[in-house]
Amino acid sequence: MADKRDFYEVMGVPKNATEDEIKKAYRKLAKKYHPDLNPGDKEAEAKFKEVNEAYEVLSDKDKRARYDQFGHAGVDPNFGGGAGGGSPFTGDIDLGDIFNSFFGGFGGGGTRRANPNAPRRGSDTEGVVNISFEEAAKGCRKTISFNKIETCPDCGGSGAAKGTSPSTCSQCGGTGQVRINQRTPFGMVQTARTCDRCGGSGRVIDSPCHTCNGSGRVRKQKTIEINIPAGVDNDQMLNVSGQGNAGANGGPSGDLHVYVNVRPHPIFERRGDDVWCEMPITFSQAALGAEVTVPTIDGRVSYQVREGTQPGDVFKLKGKGIPHINGRGRGDQYVRMTIEVPKNLSQKQKQLLQEFDSCAEEKNYQKRKGFFDKIKEMFDEKKQS
Ligand SMILES: [Zn+2]
Ligand SMILES: [Zn+2]
Repeated sequence: MADKRDFYEVMGVPKNATEDEIKKAYRKLAKKYHPDLNPGDKEAEAKFKEVNEAYEVLSDKDKRARYDQFGHAGVDPNFGGGAGGGSPFTGDIDLGDIFNSFFGGFGGGGTRRANPNAPRRGSDTEGVVNISFEEAAKGCRKTISFNKIETCPDCGGSGAAKGTSPSTCSQCGGTGQVRINQRTPFGMVQTARTCDRCGGSGRVIDSPCHTCNGSGRVRKQKTIEINIPAGVDNDQMLNVSGQGNAGANGGPSGDLHVYVNVRPHPIFERRGDDVWCEMPITFSQAALGAEVTVPTIDGRVSYQVREGTQPGDVFKLKGKGIPHINGRGRGDQYVRMTIEVPKNLSQKQKQLLQEFDSCAEEKNYQKRKGFFDKIKEMFDEKKQS
């Protein structure tokens, strides 16, 4: 029995398709394969069932999440028991084949039959790359591994075993279509139907290639090196042209979509193309001013903290942020000051601070003075009213 096909493949949508895209794809497919439009067509009936099954899972948030994590086993209790849907298709035939094989199968005469032997572009495939904060800021080269469908190297994509080649289908004489005469109240009507022996291709494979079982395509793990541009951000997608799944009938390959995963940094936080960080300084550095060393993505720089710096004060290092990904220039770095109050003081330290306090004046603590002035006003007002 054929393996159950991937639900996204059944629906012809990418793994990250939105609910809307899935709904749209479903409407289109359900219409195509509806039994009313394909009376007596067993293949269409099977496809209709398959599409409905896929939609039932992908349209339900919970089921979709389980399917994404565990595959068919996550949503089908019978999975693995051989209770598949009996799809007539196996392996990696893409939806285009199925669409094409049904064009002309209904609608009274097949006005718009697509050629199943026409070159078709391969579908896109996906990969993930994990990089550090600095690598995202500076750009890098990374090796990534991903799965893709390639043309079978042993048969060159024909699906026929070595030394043999596909032969002309005897049922349709190589046209891929058979004509059926139907008696109707309006007289005899001739309709064209896709040949069920060759699936519309006009060719049949008598001895299938052992490597690909006749599909002409094989799934392979590939490793390539890609260039990651400076300024790339978490969750961005990089398109690698031509590294997706192989096309059919000599059509071009799809693209590889690489999703970037940037690991968080212990000190820096990214906001757009700006970098933020917190800088702890001592109480006396804040009060007296001091030269401090600040980390940036380019290395350390020194900065003169001004006298009387308050907790939460922010200073800006212009042009020390992340490079703009598709242009010139860079963001800025913002440094927020935090002031650490000393703990575990020795007797002597305590004494010095007490001495300091005893000679402190009102002008040393303006915020505090303002605060107490406001409290006074508050209670004076209450007395008046
Ligand atoms: Zn092969
Ligand atoms: Zn045929």
